[in-house]
Amino acid sequence: MYYTKVNQDSCIACGLCQIISPDLFDYTSEGIAFTKMDLNAGNVPVPAERFEAFLDAYRKCPTGAILRSNRPFPPGEQ
Ligand code: SF4
Repeated sequence: MYYTKVNQDSCIACGLCQIISPDLFDYTSEGIAFTKMDLNAGNVPVPAERFEAFLDAYRKCPTGAILRSNRPFPPGEQ
């Protein structure tokens, strides 16, 4: 089981993750990505049926801004 969130300091608003995986990622009016299922808290697991798309976005993000963990991210962190 994986959790994900976007390091918004590293996101360059390229839009790629949202194109690859629109069910998992959305972006702000400035184009900065965030996870849809938990509003970038990183505390809701990636659904199994979305995992391949998640991995694709994770690998292709040009700045490595998509974070991944096998446990929920602690609250309050970027
Ligand atoms: S692929 Fe990476 S840099 Fe591009 S919008 Fe998504 S998180 Fe930001």
